Amino acid sequence: MENQRTRLAPSPTGALHLGNALTFVVNWALARQRGWEIVLRIEDLDTPRVKPGVVEQTIDILRWLGLDWDSQHPLQSSDLSPYVDAMRTLASKGLVYPCSLTRSEIAEAAGAPHEDSSEIPFEPNLRPSKISTRFEDTGTNWRLMVPDENIEINERFANVKSSNPCQTVGDFVVWTQREQPSYQLAVTVDDARQGITQIVRGNDLIDSAARQTLLRRALGIESVPHHYHLPLVRGHDGRRLAKRHGDTRIETYRDKGVEPERIMALLARWAGIQGNPGSLSIQGFTDAFQVDTMSRGDVTFTPEDDQWLLQSAPHSR
Ligand code: GLU
Repeated sequence: MENQRTRLAPSPTGALHLGNALTFVVNWALARQRGWEIVLRIEDLDTPRVKPGVVEQTIDILRWLGLDWDSQHPLQSSDLSPYVDAMRTLASKGLVYPCSLTRSEIAEAAGAPHEDSSEIPFEPNLRPSKISTRFEDTGTNWRLMVPDENIEINERFANVKSSNPCQTVGDFVVWTQREQPSYQLAVTVDDARQGITQIVRGNDLIDSAARQTLLRRALGIESVPHHYHLPLVRGHDGRRLAKRHGDTRIETYRDKGVEPERIMALLARWAGIQGNPGSLSIQGFTDAFQVDTMSRGDVTFTPEDDQWLLQSAPHSR
């Protein structure tokens, strides 16, 4: 059997919170249980601007939680040529085109006020009538032609096994006007060239799996990774964990004196580990974790959980 390999792929936003920690720790535990190799890939292309020191800060927090990895890839931004090559391949097949339409023009064509949705489905009739087979980075977005078809995503955990990106997003951006690959293109190219066989991440990205599967097909990539889309952590109002739920950054808890073993114990409860320990090492987590019994539903972070973490810290009260 080929080597199994997974990746820890944090975006260096400087704000790894409890939700991100759940994903990374479960990813790490699965990898160590099953002998997958772990690579660290800092995804510095999918965030607007990376402040100095934030990459180191992200790595520092992962290490503080007890995670390690077998190798680390250079920052995505250090070499854009693999992504440019991918664009050339897509262009040579007539599958991408430049598009300078604004969000409101796209929304208008879709005939709906998509205020609540960050994604406005791109109508196929907005495609240009003539598609060039040459990619030129001219400071405009480039979109992929998305067929109207249900795409299987090789999911091993969540209950969603396929989706139709034409219905959800339509032709999506693969190269951005910032003269960089989009997240969808960068992640597809990197997962392929880094030999990633197991993708473990939050279920907010489950819709992206079909887009990435489509891109692999368009690029002629034959390998098909397994996906595990894990529950998200939500605030008590049901919304995805964010600043409005207080400061749930791992770094903040660390600075208040909370030990990583305390955080691990909370993650263990969310991951379905029995026994409610007050503190747990990452090794203890890995020994006890069983992916089959982990709930598929999202978990809720409550003010009591915050109190429970802080109670353990001598200086925080
Ligand atoms: N960098 C992304 C994040 O931190 C993860 C992307 C992925 O796992 O595909 O949310």
